[in-house]
Amino acid sequence: MTDPQAPSPGDIAHAARLRELLERYAHEYYVLDAPSVPDAEYDRLFVELQTLEARFPALLSSSSPTQRVGGAPAQGFGEVRHSTPMLSLNNAFDEADVLGFDRRVREALGDAIGADEAIEYSAELKYDGLAISLRYEDGRLVLGATRGDGSLGENVTANIRTVRAIPLRLRVSEAAPKVLEVRGEVLMFKADFDRMNRQQREAGEREFVNPRNAAAGALRQLDPAATARRPLRFFAYGIGELAGASMPPTQSALLQWLRELGLPVGAELECLRGPQGLLDYYARMMARRADLPYEIDGVVYKVNRRDWHERIGHVARAPRFAVAHKFPAQEAITELLDIEIQVGRTGSLTPVARLKPVFVGGTTVSNATLHNEDEIRRKDLMIGDQVVVRRAGDVIPEVVRALSDRRLPADDPAFAGRYRQFSMPTACPVCGSAVLREAGESAWRCGAGLSCSAQRKPALLPSPQPRARDLEG
Ligand code: NAD
Repeated sequence: MTDPQAPSPGDIAHAARLRELLERYAHEYYVLDAPSVPDAEYDRLFVELQTLEARFPALLSSSSPTQRVGGAPAQGFGEVRHSTPMLSLNNAFDEADVLGFDRRVREALGDAIGADEAIEYSAELKYDGLAISLRYEDGRLVLGATRGDGSLGENVTANIRTVRAIPLRLRVSEAAPKVLEVRGEVLMFKADFDRMNRQQREAGEREFVNPRNAAAGALRQLDPAATARRPLRFFAYGIGELAGASMPPTQSALLQWLRELGLPVGAELECLRGPQGLLDYYARMMARRADLPYEIDGVVYKVNRRDWHERIGHVARAPRFAVAHKFPAQEAITELLDIEIQVGRTGSLTPVARLKPVFVGGTTVSNATLHNEDEIRRKDLMIGDQVVVRRAGDVIPEVVRALSDRRLPADDPAFAGRYRQFSMPTACPVCGSAVLREAGESAWRCGAGLSCSAQRKPALLPSPQPRARDLEG
């Protein structure tokens, strides 16, 4: 009789393939600061491997990506062994996961918590940046280290010193703690990221995929002068080693203390009771997400009482007293089915991507803007490609890039005609008149003016920014 717990050869091969992909993506993300797939794709494969390993414990090994934190430290920096490990966080994706988290915390606390007593949590934003540990000795910054694999990080002190938001000395009225290790996130604000990418583009240099990777790349420059030119920020959210001062009793008191010491702490910190309080916070922060000056990919809940943290403990790669409640992904992969032309009221011809419908940014998207022809060339898009689509807040969805390494070999007759290059039409798709492009302009226009019916449409009230619903369908 076959053992129901034994994985089939197919399961073994599938787990190996998932591990291989996750390791490749983790290397691109943590070491090269250049991910090739959206985070949601990584998370999806991660959950798939976790589920497989839970079903067949024989597939589990300590080297599995589900058991490890981050990636190995890069060459070129000195290594730092963390005095207390820098862990990751477990994820919650929906209400049931949050209820499950609260239940497990209660179970771990046993009779320390009354049956009708709601647990107090501190709720914070989950900054989408790079984890960093700052070591202050007698109030002076002596070391800055990346998380690395959680035990061994990279020594990036010289680079950290160039980040203006990070104090070189703590603000203390009396004696500073002998040792204080502050844990927090280095990140780049959205406006700074856009400005920097514009400059990169104008200089003909590589653009960054997103603010998180731009921040990580900036902090891991071998030349601190290069880091200094990048607009980095910092938010503190935790603590490592502490000597010569008493530990604040709660997470919220800890953050208040760090703020008094001159460290930047996010203003959205709240203390809440029970899982319903957490879910309300999640909804409120999600509504504010698009308006925040920096990217967040969720919120984090931590048991507020610090003496309970040890009692609750941690699993391989993450504490059990905290959880990251993730927001719906803003980027997803889908197929570019076609490129069609929309003629606007001013006669401008805008290419629009027709996509295989995909759930992204909390809604199903089947169209996305491509801006203009140059953009299509610059992004090297082919009809038939697998593409990354982004829908942030209420802004029109856009095609960010093609996954060109997923193209099937064009010289293989089985895939002949699978991909097509886009070319701008020579005639207006609405009225058939000739299209023209003024020198120095990126947009093509229909030259027919009001004799083109697309240009005679009644004017709508002007909107300050194109909204997503204009394109949804
Ligand atoms: P994580 O980023 O999901 O969560 C842990 C980290 O959250 C902590 O280390 C800390 O740096 C950060 N954090 C932000 N705000 C915090 C707060 N208020 N309190 C505590 N921590 C806070 O976990 P991870 O292990 O760093 O990385 C996994 C994530 O990275 C996944 O969500 C995945 O999508 C992404 N990833 C993507 C790729 C890719 O190819 N696109 C590859 C690897 C990982």
